[in-house]
Amino acid sequence: MSTPARLEDNIGFACTDLQCRLGRESAVALRWLGSDGERTEFTFAQLASDSSRFAAVLTRLGVLPGARVFIMLPKLPEVFIAALGCLKARAVVGPLFANFGDEAILDRLGDSRACVLLTKHSLLKKVHRIRDRLPELRHILLVDAEDHLAADILSYRRLMREAPSDFVVAPTSPETPSILHYTSGSTGKPKGVLHVHGALPSIVGTTRDVLQVGPGDVFWCTADPGWVTGTSYGIIGPWAVGATQIHYGGSFDAGAWMTILEQEKINVWYTAPTALRMLMREEASLYAGRRLAALRCVASVGEPLNPEITFWARRTLGKEIYDTWFQTETGAIMIANRPGLAVRPGSMGKLVDGVEAVILDNAGHSLPAGQQGRLCLRRGWPSMFTQYLNRPEVYASRFNGAYYDSGDMAVRDADGYFWFVGRTDDVINTSGHLVGPFEIESVLLELPEVAEAAAVSAPDPIRFEKVVVFVCLRSGHSASRELESRIRLHVANRVSSVASPQEVVFVASLPRNRSGKIMRRVLRARFLGQNEGDLSSMETWRPGEIGDRRERV
Ligand code: ATP
Ligand code: MG
Repeated sequence: MSTPARLEDNIGFACTDLQCRLGRESAVALRWLGSDGERTEFTFAQLASDSSRFAAVLTRLGVLPGARVFIMLPKLPEVFIAALGCLKARAVVGPLFANFGDEAILDRLGDSRACVLLTKHSLLKKVHRIRDRLPELRHILLVDAEDHLAADILSYRRLMREAPSDFVVAPTSPETPSILHYTSGSTGKPKGVLHVHGALPSIVGTTRDVLQVGPGDVFWCTADPGWVTGTSYGIIGPWAVGATQIHYGGSFDAGAWMTILEQEKINVWYTAPTALRMLMREEASLYAGRRLAALRCVASVGEPLNPEITFWARRTLGKEIYDTWFQTETGAIMIANRPGLAVRPGSMGKLVDGVEAVILDNAGHSLPAGQQGRLCLRRGWPSMFTQYLNRPEVYASRFNGAYYDSGDMAVRDADGYFWFVGRTDDVINTSGHLVGPFEIESVLLELPEVAEAAAVSAPDPIRFEKVVVFVCLRSGHSASRELESRIRLHVANRVSSVASPQEVVFVASLPRNRSGKIMRRVLRARFLGQNEGDLSSMETWRPGEIGDRRERV
């Protein structure tokens, strides 16, 4: 039986009109910062009326509830307005990274049968190259065109000018589809993960309780809306609790980021280990004298947070970093550190309220504290995904009775803290031991020469699998036999002799996907000279750069 439809359950409404009804109409909802110093502000009232206009635009274009509308833009105010407008119109919004290549766009728009794409002029040529293979794509809207270019290539600005701002949001049942995210593709071909409006309580609850964001707070989520953190916590959660969001249109720049934290008086900052590791590479002078008193909470997500980052942040910024764990599929944070809970460096923290998890062995038996196994969640939390689009068999395969199998390996300690071991596919089975890449990578960061590291497995006739580490050095350091030996010895001393790498490969950079995650499957394939698989979500890729064994010292 479906749950009754209510207006306040519509995410677009909850983030805008509801905030106005609560008296926040003149509070700043969005402060957008351009890379060249531009600042644009939107109050909740403006966000409400602009998103309603966009909902009206979609309705005028014949977009029905449930139809898929994609947004392929860098972080611009239009991204947020359009996403909220889609949600108000009960269309399904699919955010895409602006720098996706033709094949990645084709895969996602084709798989989801998208009918509208919002983009900009400079990205149009990519769409033109694949347009004839997307028969269901009816309209392309350009945010930077003053007037319509063709019957199906329309000006967003003109459509918005001509649209009324009094769109009436329909009561929305919790089962109504809301957002379609393609996973990061770390382990294989990205999967279309469908979410529903009913996710709101999970997102709001964790925004309040974990990130500690409330009305009037200034919040900065550095994630792109192309991945789940950028929508759950870069759009929905903070606005649904009445906070001001800062969004920065530029790319990563250590100096610019520190200036934003300081000058915008950010209270809560949600970012990722990859960005924190990049900040760690900077000289201490970048941080000296920074006034960060307003910054109450720094949280991290997306990859394991190496203890070394925690120690660096305590030392350099005088801040604790709260690691949080979730996935595209879970829609909201499931496990987290948070103010009030003592941080155990290297642990992801404890379960959030309302979430139940178990550690299961491969046969589905529950394991006691201290034993590593598959991290599984009891199904039924509000923000749980409802399908992998067009892949019902893959969806079904992720459930084991009452439990959803996250595909990650973890350990729960006796006090209820969860410790990430690795993805099930990444755990290294060497000499009869299961070794997690995270542990090896974390201890490698303790060496002053090492900026980043990734550990993967490779087949080995004696050990079954051997440990191969890829190491990026900090500037000013170079690879040597001596360093290679020290790396081996350090892992042997700090983790165990079985975890000590048989191969050490020095590389200039690590392959990442667009959400900044290290792609271990690509490193492994490259090392073994195998097919690298789906690379549509890769950030940059220079063949020959990674894992070329001839480059070894
Ligand atoms: P795909 O499913 O396509 O392989 P993906 O799993 O990287 O891609 P996401 O849903 O964006 O796609 O990422 C979720 C995964 O990221 C988690 O399953 C986990 O492996 C990793 N992750 C997220 N947060 C943390 C964290 N705090 N600590 C360790 N790992 C994390
Ligand atoms: Mg995944």
